[in-house]
Amino acid sequence: MMRTMMSLLMAGASLAIAPPAMADRYPLQHGLQVRDYAFDIALSEESDDIRVNETVEVSFLADGLKAIDLDLCNVVAASAKPDPLEPCEATERQNTDLGPGSGPVPGVGRGMTMISATAGGTPLRFTHIGNRLHLTLPQPSRKGGRLAIDLAYHGVPAAGLFIGKNKYGDRVFFSDSWPNRARNWLATVDHISAKATKTVTVTAPSHYQVISNGLETRVADLPGGLRATTWREAVPIPSWQFSLGVAPMTVTRFDQVRGVDFAAWLAPQNQAADLSQAEATSRAAFDFYSDYIGPYAFEKLAHVDATGGRGAMELATSIFYFGDFRAMAHEMAHQWFGNAVTEATWDDVWLSEGFATYFDLLFTEHSRGHDTFLTSLRRGRDGAVKYALAHPDSTVVHRDLARDSEVLGNAPQIYAGGAMVLRTLNGVLGDRVFRAGIRSYYARHVNGLATSDDLRLAMEDACRADSGCESENNDLTWFFDQWLRRGGVPQVQGTWRYDPTRKVLEVAFTQTQKQGLYRLPTELAVSLPGVAGERRFKLVIDAPNTKLAFRLDAAPQDVALDPDTWTPMLKADVTQAR
Ligand SMILES: [Zn+2]
Repeated sequence: MMRTMMSLLMAGASLAIAPPAMADRYPLQHGLQVRDYAFDIALSEESDDIRVNETVEVSFLADGLKAIDLDLCNVVAASAKPDPLEPCEATERQNTDLGPGSGPVPGVGRGMTMISATAGGTPLRFTHIGNRLHLTLPQPSRKGGRLAIDLAYHGVPAAGLFIGKNKYGDRVFFSDSWPNRARNWLATVDHISAKATKTVTVTAPSHYQVISNGLETRVADLPGGLRATTWREAVPIPSWQFSLGVAPMTVTRFDQVRGVDFAAWLAPQNQAADLSQAEATSRAAFDFYSDYIGPYAFEKLAHVDATGGRGAMELATSIFYFGDFRAMAHEMAHQWFGNAVTEATWDDVWLSEGFATYFDLLFTEHSRGHDTFLTSLRRGRDGAVKYALAHPDSTVVHRDLARDSEVLGNAPQIYAGGAMVLRTLNGVLGDRVFRAGIRSYYARHVNGLATSDDLRLAMEDACRADSGCESENNDLTWFFDQWLRRGGVPQVQGTWRYDPTRKVLEVAFTQTQKQGLYRLPTELAVSLPGVAGERRFKLVIDAPNTKLAFRLDAAPQDVALDPDTWTPMLKADVTQAR
């Protein structure tokens, strides 16, 4: 493909990480990797202007790099064109009542202003335009070398960090950086693939509680009624996951689960949350995911009553809820998928949202039974099918997403649709192989990055390792191509007739969709008069017209395709031939 070839050529011969074949268009710098961030953030009562001192440590994967770029939003100009996909503009969520921000373009006058950039005490040349901080290195990079750069900047963030009042009228600060808005308040490589460890120290008036990713490592009272609180995340995470909550909060510690600390951080006035229910769900989901997928990758888990967003946000080790705890099982599943194993590009966002949706469903089955599971699955399926039919060119894996902000433009296809892909894969491989594949995918990529192809390879290897797995599934390219990279849904018209003299059930299926043929391993359920239960026949529909015959002693009452909804996205209509 042309664009990928161009970026390969421009990156030169010392390319260390080849970009995936399909990738969003974030301008990755392949010659370097961000290792660690340390942020010192000063917050105050009187002003929304925050001051940040930052140390960013990078390692070089190539010789000869002369500069590095970080994302950091400039001050929004009055001449800016309103654009909801622009990550450096205020969202409607930002309801700060201090400082600038009104006018036709949200956030005019807000943004960050650089104060200084140094390395080892020596000033660095830099430019800060177009929301990119371009830093000239003191000398060209050496492969394997590391550099720590110290930055200072300040401003009123236009987005990314909510500063305002919660519903009780208290002043609060909560990060809201998904998917590319960390750059509004922190200078970062603001892309999902740039995972790094981080430390944050917040200096704020001492009546605030402060929570962030990882573990609290230091609390120090300072003169003037201030307190410095430090949190350290020792597991690498992407910048959008950098959580910060600064608010009056009451902390309720739950019992540890498998050695991991659990807690709820609530506004002191919040009487609505049912904490015993929250603790029970939290424990049960944690046990279920740990047993199914593999050990939890992080240090603690906090459920945080936050302000500024909608629904809930799965920030690593500190889930933010903007209302109730309903999304808990979904957000907890993200700690494994999205947070510990992170999609390498936004094109593969289904590896996060589709997985969280599917594992939430599996937890529903585990905790509330198969019928509730099937009801939820089919409800999700209906939305995903409706979307796919209305948007036949849209696919589960994005095709080189142009703007990161559009990553959930096809949300029903990503969440429920992605979950349906996993349900179908689960059906094709069977529970044992699917689970082994999930465990190996997690073990291979925990605290790293993964693509849809990595998932395919893990599933193929799990199939090869299991003597009960059909050898045709040693290569699952067909499956991943038809379900992830093709729009629409398969549509099958079927008829059946019973031949009483030959005692044979004849079935005929025609694939009527326009986007190409599908391979559909599935099942036929045949109910017989006066007989409890039903007969099941396995079959594969993979041709334009598929005709099959099954021995059957009596005429069926009814014939149904895919009775257990293993292929939820299949739209099938099966009738008796006249
Ligand atoms: Zn989610």
